Amino acid sequence: MTDVVDAPTTVKPINHWISGRPYAGQSGRSGPVFNPATGEQTGAVDFATVEEIDKAVQSAKQALPAWRALSLAKRAELFFAIRELFHAKREEIAKHLTLEHGKVLSDAMGEVTRGLEVIEFCCGIPHLLKGGMSEQASTGVDVYSIRQPLGVVAGITPFNFPAMVPMWMWAPALACGNTFVLKPSEKDPSASFYTAELLEEAGVPAGVFNVVNGDKVAVDAILEHPDVAAVSFVGSTPIAKYVYETATANGKRCQALGGAKNHMIVLPDADIDMAADAAVSAAYGSAGERCMAVSLLVAVGDVADPLVEAIKQRIPSVKVGDGMDSSSEMGPLITREHRDKVASYIGADEGATVVVDGRDRANGDGFFLAPTLIDDVKPGMKAYEDEIFGPVLSVTRVSSYDEAVRLVNENPYGNGTAIFTRDGGAARQFQFEVQAGMVGINVPIPVPVAYYSFGGWKASLFGDRHIYGPEGIDFYTRSKVVTSRWPDPATSQIDLGFPQTR
Ligand code: NAD
Repeated sequence: MTDVVDAPTTVKPINHWISGRPYAGQSGRSGPVFNPATGEQTGAVDFATVEEIDKAVQSAKQALPAWRALSLAKRAELFFAIRELFHAKREEIAKHLTLEHGKVLSDAMGEVTRGLEVIEFCCGIPHLLKGGMSEQASTGVDVYSIRQPLGVVAGITPFNFPAMVPMWMWAPALACGNTFVLKPSEKDPSASFYTAELLEEAGVPAGVFNVVNGDKVAVDAILEHPDVAAVSFVGSTPIAKYVYETATANGKRCQALGGAKNHMIVLPDADIDMAADAAVSAAYGSAGERCMAVSLLVAVGDVADPLVEAIKQRIPSVKVGDGMDSSSEMGPLITREHRDKVASYIGADEGATVVVDGRDRANGDGFFLAPTLIDDVKPGMKAYEDEIFGPVLSVTRVSSYDEAVRLVNENPYGNGTAIFTRDGGAARQFQFEVQAGMVGINVPIPVPVAYYSFGGWKASLFGDRHIYGPEGIDFYTRSKVVTSRWPDPATSQIDLGFPQTR
């Protein structure tokens, strides 16, 4: 068991997990894993070959018949055991996240807690898999529907939620009776390996959950594998589109969640302090590396000046530092290259005003960039159009509610959005007409609770099912409808007509 005690001082190999045990990759290819707070390389993760992907899929395929035959009562019991173990080990999981992703430990604990909620939802799997029944649909004929697993399913996940996003996938997939192959982000893979160890300890049979690490070679091998029935993907929009198109072209069911540019609208009647607190929390939490982060503040009318001033006042007190230091509120970015790319947006747009420049507070060898605030950002500017995915908050000034909503609706992304107001009628109208999958009313990061489903609209989701919750159960199952009768053989006769319900 690879419990984390302190940050490792040597480069550790990070293997795959196939057939219930670690599997050292044979490709000779690997990728570096860093501690973003120090800039040190701490791990080298194996990159899988096409043959290794096949090995993992075959292991999942072998485990499938027994797993899908396990009674619902036993599957639910096992999920309670998984829940207990993950809950007991939540701090260990969180440490893996902080050491490889960089997010502060309290935020990492929040990630694990939200993932645990999905596991808790899955403890009710007997209820969730209930079908429907119509007695006497025709004379002496009953009709009922049942939900069955798809088979071997795969998940491909991003760097920014290394534990929670995999939980969104493997928990409902396994609960529904599928077996699973996970390809986590190569940037912070240890949480997935640890997940495999914990699932094994909880009693999940070998082969039911496998982890393969790697890059495009591994992803393509999954997308093209004939024995993989479905693929869940979360990541950036260009890759989500590619994954969706390739998976569906290969006959697979696919849900592919993409990137975002989340607008938070602040109306003139909003409480300025509350809106400023919310904007700072939602823009700079996890260094802005959340698909539900607020990256654009749309200030309506005369709210702009006091709001920008209130945010500017708050930024210096956000403590930026190593996520393992309990006083830190914001950690580093994932890699040096990503930090530099995010920093390149600062001052790049002519006409925009850099109010707070986070580069001024960068220090040490870690991949740090402090909170940055850019005002007067307009459509067409780079800071407006791109998903920056860092601690950069842009402010766009508009004169009316209608203009603000039009900006959200015209944006190619449609993940999350929020409105801050004291006017219930305006909020109700916003909920009614805004084109985004997840809407917050005085809530800046409206990630749905586990018994609803998570997903955006437009370029933020390819596919027609959102992830986890009821739509997650729907995604990982297919329905079968049974028509049944028990007639008296004495009444049997040949009838070549099409069956009619009378
Ligand atoms: P990414 O798209 O670079 O990587 C996601 C996964 O795809 C990784 O496992 C990676 O190995 C793989 N991948 C990368 N390039 C590939 C290629 N060319 N071919 C095949 N596979 C490839 O995303 P990321 O940088 O890890 O994560 C950040 C992105 O994820 C952001 O855009 C963010 O908005 C998005 N995200 C979206 C949600 C959501 O729910 N909509 C949630 C979290 C993150």
